[in-house]
Amino acid sequence: MALLRRKPGFARPGTPKRSRRRRLALTLAALLAPLTLGGGWAQPAAPIAIAAHAEARGRDSRLSFTLQSCVAAEAYVLDAPARAIVDLPEVNFQIDPHEGLPAPESKPRRHRPAAQKPPPPSLDAGLISSFRFGRLAPGKSRIVVDLSGPAAVASIGCAPTPGAAELTLVLAPATDVAFKAAARAGAEKQSPVRTPDAPAAVAPPPGSPEKPVVVIDPGHGGVDTGALGRDHAVEKVVVLDFAKALAAKLRAGDHYRVVLTREDDVFVPLGERVRIARRLNAALFVSVHADALASNGDEVQGATVYTVSDRASDAEAARVAEHENKADSAAGEEAQEDASDVNDILFELTRRETRAYSHVFARSLSEYFKVAARLNKNPRRSAGFVVLKAPDVPSVLLELGYLSNPSDVADLTSAAWRDKATDQTAKAIDGFFANRRLENAPAAPVDAALKATQSTGN
Ligand SMILES: [Zn+2]
Repeated sequence: MALLRRKPGFARPGTPKRSRRRRLALTLAALLAPLTLGGGWAQPAAPIAIAAHAEARGRDSRLSFTLQSCVAAEAYVLDAPARAIVDLPEVNFQIDPHEGLPAPESKPRRHRPAAQKPPPPSLDAGLISSFRFGRLAPGKSRIVVDLSGPAAVASIGCAPTPGAAELTLVLAPATDVAFKAAARAGAEKQSPVRTPDAPAAVAPPPGSPEKPVVVIDPGHGGVDTGALGRDHAVEKVVVLDFAKALAAKLRAGDHYRVVLTREDDVFVPLGERVRIARRLNAALFVSVHADALASNGDEVQGATVYTVSDRASDAEAARVAEHENKADSAAGEEAQEDASDVNDILFELTRRETRAYSHVFARSLSEYFKVAARLNKNPRRSAGFVVLKAPDVPSVLLELGYLSNPSDVADLTSAAWRDKATDQTAKAIDGFFANRRLENAPAAPVDAALKATQSTGN
């Protein structure tokens, strides 16, 4: 996920600088009353977390969460990148994900010799450089702490406080050797994340004509927040809103079976997203994302449509793919080995055909999309996106815009913009399938599609 450092311009409007610790039992009771009485939570209700606080104390660093009641927690470290993980039963985090970002650079900068590198981003909390929290899977939540150096879990525990409870993780500095050994042990603690609500391949009811399956993939989710932008915009929220609006339009047309890789705020591993599309024998896969830049963030704007390629089309595409491919590690998952592609002529032919169709759709999507939205100055690019690697499902990744850009963030969080933009996306999808129906006859379509691809160099 993008770590967008808060700049002065990112300050919450009208919010005075205040301590992040809101521990007054009174406040807690006032906050919890309407939420717990409102119903709608699964039984038993997940405890609510309302505040997070990170600080350095001596050589140690502490991260604490104020919760409605105590939960059992397990903590361990992982390497590459260095993280501390806290696994929890499901917790309902009512905390702005921006709380876990590095602190704003509000303090006067000390004079540094020009050649010296700036210090790494810091929350002013020693070993803790940033943190995230959220759902991992049904019934499970997780806190992921990005470490600024090798650290050990000194303690993890939850203690009742008046009217509430406090979960505290204490980290202590560790040697490299000790950290690496602990990280190996930590990796063994992880069980693969399963998403039980992931749709399975279901045969259509007998007699009904088989509709093509369109998989819409809202990026990130749960503990993996995606990019954090200005005005408190969060990528996982923006893209889920877009995906749901798009799915509703496609379903209304009744030409496709539309499946979302996630319907709510839950983490789904990248590999699982691809497996969902393949399992359903999808005819099209559209992954929806939004970007954010830490520097020049307010200048770069507009939507970009990406396809997969072995070599990135440009440096920016390589950066975006690297970023998006880190989704699993942002959620505190062990890095997965990229399964090497099967080196087989049939596989290669299928993949070429799939990529050709992906290009055809990417081109048409950017044409339709520009009617409703701004396009990036270079709106079609390609790179090695893990989520686009199904060899047999035409796949594109749509970056809606930049959450670091004021105009884009205003658009992406507006219902009116979403309505126009999903209209155009649905039209592009209709166009793609209309052409495929027309081409239903001989092998000509693949040749044409391949030709179209060759002009873009892939
Ligand atoms: Zn993303």
